[in-house]
Amino acid sequence: MRYDCTSRRLAQKTINVIKEKRTVAERMTTIMPLATPPSSQGKAPSRPVVALLSTFLDMDFMRAPLQRELPDAEIRKWPDEDVSDADFAVCWRPPHGVMAGMPKLRLVHCIAAGVDNILADPDLPDLPLCRVVDENHARGMAEYVLWSVLHFHRRLDSALRRQAEGVWAPSRQRAAGDVTVGIMGWGNIGRSVGCTLNAFGYKVRGWARTPREEEGIELFTGAKEREDFLRGTEILICLLPLTEETRGILDADLFAGLPKGAAVVNIGRGEQLNEPDLLAALDAGHLRGAVLDVFEQEPLPPENPLWAHPRVIVTPHIASTADPRTIAAQIGANIRHALAGEALVNEVDRHRGY
Ligand code: NDP
Repeated sequence: MRYDCTSRRLAQKTINVIKEKRTVAERMTTIMPLATPPSSQGKAPSRPVVALLSTFLDMDFMRAPLQRELPDAEIRKWPDEDVSDADFAVCWRPPHGVMAGMPKLRLVHCIAAGVDNILADPDLPDLPLCRVVDENHARGMAEYVLWSVLHFHRRLDSALRRQAEGVWAPSRQRAAGDVTVGIMGWGNIGRSVGCTLNAFGYKVRGWARTPREEEGIELFTGAKEREDFLRGTEILICLLPLTEETRGILDADLFAGLPKGAAVVNIGRGEQLNEPDLLAALDAGHLRGAVLDVFEQEPLPPENPLWAHPRVIVTPHIASTADPRTIAAQIGANIRHALAGEALVNEVDRHRGY
């Protein structure tokens, strides 16, 4: 039986309504104490300080949406403003060592789904770390993957090469149901991508670290089932988080486990791909092509051979991004949870690395 995407959509709608109601209720119970009048000593209650930290992005885009969520908070951006007394850190590729110098820090929040960019800080304080989990963002990822899968399945790669040569060369087309797509990482995004592809009729299989079950989807677990997972995969999608176990996982050994003519789509992290091994597998004719959205070095340097390779499509880390209002809503809710001593949402298992 096929994976039931319709009931999942309805269930998600219900969850969203419940979440919306919960968010309003939380705002009333946790923001109100911040707006209380000056204490008996005549001192104004201190405002929570939220630090925006990034060595890569101008985090100004988060200021207004966060301020709307947390009207009583003081939002400061590193390095322009002093963030040493911050209570909360909102990050993307934060500067190493800066959070270690924030004695009041209580929570570190990523503005995206992957937290490898934060865990890379060798001096990261041992504090709760949360990430953003968003259905719309996952849907954007599914659109990107669907386009990549269609590119290979409908042989658009060869049609485009033939067009450049001015050659009219119709190719045999296959039904989606005859094409097997394998998704490495059956998490929030991998599952959403799998559901979309399944609805389009593709044969979908997934690979995760721990055993899972999904109606209509063949799921494989860990190292012991990796070979079986790869053997039947014609289009491989990498949606793994970057951890010590997944760093460099897309290498010669893995490519050799795929059938000849397989294609690879990497939208996980660039550090998961061994670029020389990919180029060798493409040039040997073992792999048919690759669509790459993430790279070890971003922006991808102009001299990188991937740019000009005829069988590679390069996109500049645009598979999907969450709306800043959604990011701010989730961070705002978690900061209110922290202020109220309540359980956090979408907390990362730091030991596991995702
Ligand atoms: P989740 O944490 O929800 O899911 C991760 C999945 O990977 C889980 O199924 C997990 O297995 C599996 N996994 C982790 N380690 C291993 C391993 N060693 N072997 C096998 N399976 C493993 O993450 P998301 O789905 O939310 O996001 C995945 C990644 O996508 C992010 O970490 C980020 O790197 C990337 N991303 C890229 C974007 C882009 O624009 N290109 C945008 C957003 C995210 P288990 O279920 O057993 O725990």
